[in-house]
Amino acid sequence: MNQPCSVCVVTGGSLGIGLAVVRKFVAEGYRVFNLDIRGFENSNEAATWIYCDVTDGNAVQLAINDIVSTTGRIDCLVSNAGMHYSATIEDTTPDALDRVFSLNVKGAYHAIRAVLPTMKKAQSGAIVIMASDQALVGKRNSFAYNLSKAALASMAKTTALDYASYQIRANAVCPGTVETPLYHCAIDKYVAESGADKQVVHAEEQAAQPLGRLGQPDEVAALTYFLASDEAKFITGSLHSIDGGYTAQ
Ligand code: NAD
Repeated sequence: MNQPCSVCVVTGGSLGIGLAVVRKFVAEGYRVFNLDIRGFENSNEAATWIYCDVTDGNAVQLAINDIVSTTGRIDCLVSNAGMHYSATIEDTTPDALDRVFSLNVKGAYHAIRAVLPTMKKAQSGAIVIMASDQALVGKRNSFAYNLSKAALASMAKTTALDYASYQIRANAVCPGTVETPLYHCAIDKYVAESGADKQVVHAEEQAAQPLGRLGQPDEVAALTYFLASDEAKFITGSLHSIDGGYTAQ
C-alpha cells in the first residue's frame, strides 16, 4: 500500500473506467480528487469531486492549484475523461472534430501541464493516460476518435521523454471494449441508426473479442494503478493493451 497521504487526480472519475480508477486508488490509501463535469452518483464515494470541465485550461489550472494548496502534492494523474464519436472522415464536420479533440486530446494536455510543475518540484510523479485499442489499430467509422487516441499515445511518449530527468513517468493504457456508460451510449446510437437488435449487437461485440467477453472497468483500473505504483518504476513512455487479445489478431 502507498503512503496514506499520496494524492491522485483523476479526470472523468464519476462514471465507468474513471470511477473504477477512483475506487482503486482510494482502496490503496490515496487521497483522490475527481475532476468531472458531473458528480458521483453515490454521495458516499471516499473521494473529492471538483466540478471541472477539462476542455477549459483555466478551470483545470484553478482546480489543480486548489488541490496543491490543500495537499501540497500530486503523486499521480490519471487523465481519463473522453468521449466517443462514430463517423467516417467525410461525415466528421470540423466542429465535431474540434469537440472530440478539445476533450480527448486538449483535456489531457491541460491536465498534464497543470500537474507537471508540482511533480517537477517533487522530482517524482506518475501520469497515466487513458488511450484506447484505437491508439494501436484502426476501426471503421471512427475517424476522430481514432485520431484522438493515437495523439494520446504520442502524448504519453513525448511526456515520458521530456520529464524522465525529473523521475516523472508517463504511460498510456489502451483498453479494448469495456462495458461502461460510454459503451452503452455508442451501441444505443448504432442500434437507433441501423435498426439492429441491441442484444444481438452486444453479443457480436463480445464474440469479436478473443477472450469472448467485454472488459470490465475494475480490470482497467487495476492496470492503471499498477502503472502508477512503484511496482512499475522502470516503466515509462509505453502503451499497455488491456483488450482481451483484440489487438493481437
Ligand atoms: P464514460 O462516458 O462512461 O465516462 C466518462 C466520464 O468523463 C464521465 O464521468 C463524464 O462525466 C466525464 N466527462 C465527460 N466530459 C468531461 C469534461 N469535459 N470534463 C470532465 N469530465 C468529463 O466513459 P468510459 O467508457 O468510462 O471511458 C473513459 C475513458 O476510457 C475515455 O477516455 C474513453 O475514450 C476510454 N476508453 C473507453 C473504452 C470503452 O470501451 N468504454 C475503450 C477504450 C478507451
